[in-house]
Amino acid sequence: MSLETVNLMIDGRAVQAAPGTNLIEAARLAGIEIPHFCYHPQLPIAGNCRMCLVEVGLPKLGPDRKPVLGADGRPLVNFGPKLTIACNTTVSEGMVVLTRTPRVIKARRGVMEFLLINHPLDCPVCDQAGECDLQDLSFQHGLVETRFEEGRREFDPIDIGPFIKLHMNRCILCYRCVFTANQITNQRVHGVLYRNDAAEISTYIQNAVENDFSGNMIDVCPVGALTDRTFRFKSRVWFLKPMNASRECPKCSGKVTAWMFGNAIYRITGRKDKYNELEEFICNECRFEKKDLSDWTIEGPKQVKRQSVISANHYENVEEPNVIKPIEGVMGKDEGDKVTK
Ligand code: SF4
Repeated sequence: MSLETVNLMIDGRAVQAAPGTNLIEAARLAGIEIPHFCYHPQLPIAGNCRMCLVEVGLPKLGPDRKPVLGADGRPLVNFGPKLTIACNTTVSEGMVVLTRTPRVIKARRGVMEFLLINHPLDCPVCDQAGECDLQDLSFQHGLVETRFEEGRREFDPIDIGPFIKLHMNRCILCYRCVFTANQITNQRVHGVLYRNDAAEISTYIQNAVENDFSGNMIDVCPVGALTDRTFRFKSRVWFLKPMNASRECPKCSGKVTAWMFGNAIYRITGRKDKYNELEEFICNECRFEKKDLSDWTIEGPKQVKRQSVISANHYENVEEPNVIKPIEGVMGKDEGDKVTK
């Protein structure tokens, strides 16, 4: 018998999800965000970062394969002895998932501590600051201090092609760029070399950057390890206005986010959803070569989470009760340029 929907409980909330849905996506149906770095809906599941560990319980079954009920009439649940990664666990009938128990919080703190062992504290000079998953999640789940007393591993930044800079110091080895390179190239040209603290993104990435869609590796990188050389040090992201923009493009959909200051376009990125995940790949021509306002039709301001530093002062917010409504026509003469201040 195949079920059309699966019923489960996540943090006490009843959720119905399609069979095969993983727990990160199922939790989103209930409005719960499970923190993660390597999981991305457009990419294969790696299970590398371990940030999405949760407690998973399944109903205790009797000899008749039916759930055993407790004294209160509710099914008894057997929780596993270890935490489970949510990205690679699919929903099942009667499953109970807990995402905020002391065990889970302690595990997240441990994962953050490991990830930050080698990551430099260079947020003030990193282009990813303000839109960095590592920055956000270390603030929410990390420790104030490190217990690591050895030296951090160090690499020189490398230019990989005319458009991308690799800062291996910042890489958390999530493999998102590896999977992206696998999707956009015919052969395997990009990967991780060596093991443990010697592991690094393969310099064969140079072969991947010759591809028309290589810039998407910048967008999927959850930290500042891969940065846009056409935007480096031009501006902090929170000084720019993210605007939805589009153009006729023969290579991609042409739907992008244009990061603007006044009428100047400082950078172009792919559009990201409310979970800060890339919606679709855009081509390098749109991303790196079309920086004039005349290249684009500006559709309107992109919604940004209220908690994001990018939303400070002047934007519509997404999915928040106290949204700041845009005042039409305050700034722009363009129809789409409707921002609050
Ligand atoms: S460079 Fe970025 S996307 Fe690639 S493995 Fe490192 S952190 Fe992940």
